[in-house]
Amino acid sequence: MYVDDPGRSSWGRPQAAKSTPSAYLGRMIEQVPTVEKDLAGCVSLVTGASSGIGSAAAAVLAHRGAAVALVARRRDRLDALAAEIEDNGGTALAIETDVTDERQAREAVERTVSSLGRLDILINNAGVMLLGPATEAPLSEWQRMVDLNLLGLLYCAHAAIPHLLRAAIDGPRQVADMVNISSVAGRVARNGNGVYSLTKHGVGAFSESLRQELTKRHVRVSLVEPGATSTELVLHNRPEILESLGSQFGQTMEATDIADAIVFIVTRPRHVAVNEILIRPTEQER
Ligand code: NDP
Repeated sequence: MYVDDPGRSSWGRPQAAKSTPSAYLGRMIEQVPTVEKDLAGCVSLVTGASSGIGSAAAAVLAHRGAAVALVARRRDRLDALAAEIEDNGGTALAIETDVTDERQAREAVERTVSSLGRLDILINNAGVMLLGPATEAPLSEWQRMVDLNLLGLLYCAHAAIPHLLRAAIDGPRQVADMVNISSVAGRVARNGNGVYSLTKHGVGAFSESLRQELTKRHVRVSLVEPGATSTELVLHNRPEILESLGSQFGQTMEATDIADAIVFIVTRPRHVAVNEILIRPTEQER
C-alpha cells in the first residue's frame, strides 16, 4: 500500500508500513518471474500514476513490455516509479500534469506520442472521491470531482482518440485500448456518495457510447468498476468524514488486483473486447 500517512490505511485502519511504487513492481516480478512481453512495442499512458491503482497498473504494463507515460501532479512520485521501471529494463516517461487543465491534458498526450512514438493504450484512472451528506458538502468538493472524474477523463480521451485510431491501423497489435476506471459507485448510488456516484455513472455512460462508436475501428473502450481497494483515495476526505466512515468498508483489495484486471483487458487478442469488469473484494456485498 502506498499511503501518505503510514499510520492509517486508505480505509482508516492501522497500517504497518509505508511502501513505494517499487513494491508493486517488486511484487509483480516475484509473482510472475517469466511473464510474456506481450505488450512489447506498445505505448501506454496512465493518468493518476503517482499512487494507488494507476501506479500499480503502470508498473504491470511496463513489466508486460509497454512503454509507459506516467501522468499525475506529484513529480517526485512519478520520477521514483519511472526510475524503478527503467531499473527493471522498462521504458517510462514521467509527465507532470494536472488533467483538469485541458491544455495540460492535451500536452501530456502529445508529449507521449512525440517522445515514445505512438499511443496504443490510454488508462483513464485519475480520480477523487469526496464523500458525506449533500446538505453539508462544500460546493468546492463537488466541483473537484466533476473537474477530475469527468472533465479530466474527457480531456484525455478527446486528445487520445485520434492516436488510438491510428494505432488500431498501424500499431503492433492493430487494436487500441481506452480503459476508463469507474467504480461500484458507477452502478449503485448510496446515501453520502451522490456526486461521486454521479461522476462514475457518467464515466459508464460515456464509455458505453464511445465503445459503440469506435468498436468497428478496433479501438476497444472498456470500463473497470472496482470495489473497495486500499489506496490513498479515502484520505482526501475531510477528517469528520473519515471518522464517520470508520471500518464500514471491511475487506479491501490491493491496487495490484485492479491492475491485473486492467492488464487482462488490454492483452486480449484483437477479436476479443472485454467491455466491462466489476471487481469487488469477496466480502463486499454491495
Ligand atoms: P489514489 O488517490 O491513490 O490515486 C488517485 C490518482 O489520481 C493519484 O495518482 C493522483 O495523483 C491522481 N490525480 C488526482 N488529481 C489529479 C489531477 N488533477 N491531475 C492528474 N492526476 C490527478 O486513488 P485510487 O488509486 O484508488 O484511484 C484511482 C481510480 O480508481 C479513481 O478514479 C477512483 O475513483 C477509482 N476507484 C478507486 C476505488 C478504491 O477503493 N480505491 C474504488 C473504485 C474506484 P496526484 O495527486 O499526484 O496528481
